[in-house]
Amino acid sequence: MSATDAIVIVGGGHAGGKAAIALRGEGHTGPITIVGEENHPPYERPPLSKEYLQGESGADAMLLEPADWYAEHDITLLQGVAATAIDRDAKLVQLATGDPVPYDLLLLATGSTPRRLDIPGAELALTLRRVEDSDALREAYARSGSVVIIGGGWIGLETAAAARKAGLDTTVLEYAAVPLQNVLGDELGTYFAELHRRNGVDLRTSTAAESISGTGPYVVTAGGQDITADLVVMGVGAAPNTGLAEAAGLAVDNGVTVDESFRTSDPAIYAIGDVANAHNTGLGSRLRVEHWDNAIRQGEAVAKVMLGQSVTYDWQPYFYTDQFDLGMEYVGRGSSAHDVVIRGDKDSGEFIAFWLDGDRVTAGMNVNIWDVTDDIRALIGSSVDRARLADPGVPLTEVVQA
Ligand SMILES: Cc1cc2nc3c(=O)[nH]c(=O)nc-3n(C[C@H](O)[C@H](O)[C@H](O)COP(=O)(O)OP(=O)(O)OC[C@H]3O[C@@H](n4cnc5c(N)ncnc54)[C@H](O)[C@@H]3O)c2cc1C
Repeated sequence: MSATDAIVIVGGGHAGGKAAIALRGEGHTGPITIVGEENHPPYERPPLSKEYLQGESGADAMLLEPADWYAEHDITLLQGVAATAIDRDAKLVQLATGDPVPYDLLLLATGSTPRRLDIPGAELALTLRRVEDSDALREAYARSGSVVIIGGGWIGLETAAAARKAGLDTTVLEYAAVPLQNVLGDELGTYFAELHRRNGVDLRTSTAAESISGTGPYVVTAGGQDITADLVVMGVGAAPNTGLAEAAGLAVDNGVTVDESFRTSDPAIYAIGDVANAHNTGLGSRLRVEHWDNAIRQGEAVAKVMLGQSVTYDWQPYFYTDQFDLGMEYVGRGSSAHDVVIRGDKDSGEFIAFWLDGDRVTAGMNVNIWDVTDDIRALIGSSVDRARLADPGVPLTEVVQA
């Protein structure tokens, strides 16, 4: 590793872009090439299902840096070009154009791709990952009166909120009995379900989509019933883009397997972001995280590692969502099996939920209360007094058991 190594980053999304920016910021003077198959400079995706989808912000607001920043910082940004293979012996990335790009160090930041259910007509549904997908969805919302959204996860629920805002009759089909149950558990998952029902979403739980047919309007068959809608959206999770890594013989297991410093099974190749199943020393386990903050933190951390600094990744996962009048942040890694302690009054719409394993805090979620994430983060792993934790009158800095 040296400050003059040629670094190639495959994937010009959030994590790849962040890594390139951090590499220059950390003093790397050698060549940096970003190979990105999208026709955009690196951008962040959360607005695609929120303010951008709702027409409240533009595409430029999502860019990590303006388009000309990369050339100004001597970073070669290849747009609209996919990497098709990695030759590990020759240390070359093969491009779809046929050109090879040599590297000393390679970073894979290829992200993930929306899954589609294996049901008849699945291809008729819109999915959401890229700017163009959000554009298509916004245009479809503008000309439609009704939508069925398959999947009551984060993307499904955010697109449902946007659909309601656009005035559509909105049906959400969720396979589980409670949306978000796997992350938030029954109580808080139910809170989100009620939020959506209060805002006019026809949220049908324990309901599996069985087929989609028609040419618009479409018929979605679910739970034995036919639902007719002008539009169908599918938000059923995303699969890591591991094809390149697998073909190159790198270790892959629910993402590219990397250690706590983002090294793959090849010491010259690193992986971060949605595609990386990374060992997190703070959690004591491997985790593949599909969140905005993870792209930022891992991008910054891998830049240091690639420049020879000693970094072990121990950052507690963080994510946020905005739906209707609810904004929340979640930090840590709770389990639906953990106890939930509510600080404040859920009915007021402003509260903090904590997940506890015994007396130990595993995660916290602030709802419509801001500037508390650092305090919540500081509690993760600590044993707390439950009564004091639940009491908004006791500062969060004074809830740890003596
Ligand atoms: C609609 C939407 C809303 C979201 N909202 C939130 C939110 O509210 N909160 C939150 O915490 N997270 C949110 N996320 C998740 C967050 O955006 C992702 O975790 C983040 O984008 C991951 O960054 P990444 O760089 O790993 O992947 P990406 O940003 O997807 O970048 C990967 C890039 O690699 C490119 N690529 C793949 N293969 C190749 C190849 N062979 N050659 C060249 N390029 C390639 C892809 O085209 C893509 O441009 C949201 C995601 C989406 C899609």
